[in-house]
Amino acid sequence: MSVSEAPTETESNKAARRRLRKQPPPDPTPLAGLIDAHTHLAACGGRDPESVRSIVDHAASVGVAAVVTVADDIVDARWAHRAAQWDERVYAAVAIHPTHAGELDDATRAEIETMAADDRVVAVGETGLDYYWIGKSESCATREQQYEAFAWHIDLAKRLGKPLMIHNRDADADLLDVLAAEGAPEAVIMHCFSGDRNVARECVDRGYLLSFSGTVTFANSTELRAAAELVPDDQLLVETDAPFLTPHPYRGQPNQSYCLPYTARHIARTRDVDEVELAAIVGANARRVYNIPLR
Ligand SMILES: [Zn+2]
Ligand SMILES: [Zn+2]
Repeated sequence: MSVSEAPTETESNKAARRRLRKQPPPDPTPLAGLIDAHTHLAACGGRDPESVRSIVDHAASVGVAAVVTVADDIVDARWAHRAAQWDERVYAAVAIHPTHAGELDDATRAEIETMAADDRVVAVGETGLDYYWIGKSESCATREQQYEAFAWHIDLAKRLGKPLMIHNRDADADLLDVLAAEGAPEAVIMHCFSGDRNVARECVDRGYLLSFSGTVTFANSTELRAAAELVPDDQLLVETDAPFLTPHPYRGQPNQSYCLPYTARHIARTRDVDEVELAAIVGANARRVYNIPLR
């Protein structure tokens, strides 16, 4: 390559990188028995029964037997609730995300409550605390609004006897305090677990389930891997949180439930167990906690 060609080359490299970022990762080698414990099908391109079926078919082709699609706001909750009626492999979780906690008025509470009681809705979530977006996004709910909404969702999960699916960003201590003060439901799932090994140990001691996403595969995730190592078999889950958090080496590319085996394999290696055994363990945990039947 001559010096004069260098700028052109750089430009085309940039374009190639941009193309790559939009490109979905290749299919992983199948790993049977998995359930995606947390995904967002609408954000992954799910619109109607056909597009949802094609996402779940793709996941099933690599061993992901079912998915739990999670809502962020009331519009998303209505959609997730409907999507769970379209395909027997799709289950829903409904709640108002902590960043949207300001939207939880009486009418919204009533509607979330009705949907959450439905058989196809297997968890109340995602709810919790998100301090990261306060001050970064103008529409993000305040801490006070988040506490109030979180307490309401905790109570709802207890009344319905359904698991509580927790979103936690930069709020470890307060989140554990609120849960302890309100009294946690029987089943608590720390979705996209992001704490260090001490937070992990505290959650394990309290009997919570820790759900690991693609972040556990990232090069700098030493603490997360330490956390993934210490969780007892029956408190471990895996999720994609798709379309975000695509596992290494596809970080930044679009994520979908079919990418779950990459993360599951990584955790198997971290825990030094056979991948088939790991898949059976996390699959059984998801079925137990969400009450998902074997088909
Ligand atoms: Zn979340
Ligand atoms: Zn999520």
